[in-house]
Amino acid sequence: MNKLTLMFPGFKTKAFTMSFDDGHDSDIPLAKLLLKYDLKGSFNLCAGELYPEGAEVPVSPHGHRPMTEKEALELLSDPHFEIVSHGYHHEAVGHVPTSEALYDMLMDRRRLEELFDTFVTGHVYPYGSYSKGAIECAKLCGFKYARLAQRDTSFLLPEEDTWYVWKPTAHFLEGDFDELLDRFIKLNNNYYHGKVFYAWGHSFEFIHKWDLIEEKLKKISGREDFWYSTNGELYNYVKAYRSLEYNADTTKVYNPTQIDVYVRHDNGSVCVHAGETVKF
Ligand SMILES: [Zn+2]
Repeated sequence: MNKLTLMFPGFKTKAFTMSFDDGHDSDIPLAKLLLKYDLKGSFNLCAGELYPEGAEVPVSPHGHRPMTEKEALELLSDPHFEIVSHGYHHEAVGHVPTSEALYDMLMDRRRLEELFDTFVTGHVYPYGSYSKGAIECAKLCGFKYARLAQRDTSFLLPEEDTWYVWKPTAHFLEGDFDELLDRFIKLNNNYYHGKVFYAWGHSFEFIHKWDLIEEKLKKISGREDFWYSTNGELYNYVKAYRSLEYNADTTKVYNPTQIDVYVRHDNGSVCVHAGETVKF
């Protein structure tokens, strides 16, 4: 019987994904850095906190402010980026009445989809605050995944029941970030399911640390065995892998999805194209 494991597009063994919360104007230099290093990122926006063009935007004592809708639209419409919901008014949805949580999520999704003319299928719980009710709200609003702030350094992909409590690997400015990244880079992953490193942060935390952030992004970029993806692309890919249909002795696989899927088996590796059946 074949032992089958997940590989990422292009037969890569590791995925790198990242996301940034709150939609402040410090996202502008950050997004430019991501483009400079050809990296992908998910930007978690609060539609009710983005300012309409021409409005007076209050600047924080630390010198950053929420983006205007126009800035966000111009900056983040690039295919390197995914627009993710972070709550219309950034409510701590684990601590507010369910109706309010539902409102904050649904309003955000509707407004962001209207503004960016796209599908918004991911959510990030503000403050990492969540509850059973908040998870239900995320599902009811049509989100496919929702991220926490609490971390998980196992590099394992979320299971089917943990997409709504998706834990990132590390915050960019956590003390052991570089150590974890080195461990991930050195990881020999020739036998097991693809692994993921999920980095997150707020761009306004990087304001006086751009050189440090650029150094980290440079180190992350251009790696042969990394597949760079937004959070949503990673979700869609893993979902497609898990939708593959096998015959009973796993010598034949059918891909019923619209996404090409890369699989490692006992005799080598194979790309099972969308809609295709492959014999091992
Ligand atoms: Zn936030």
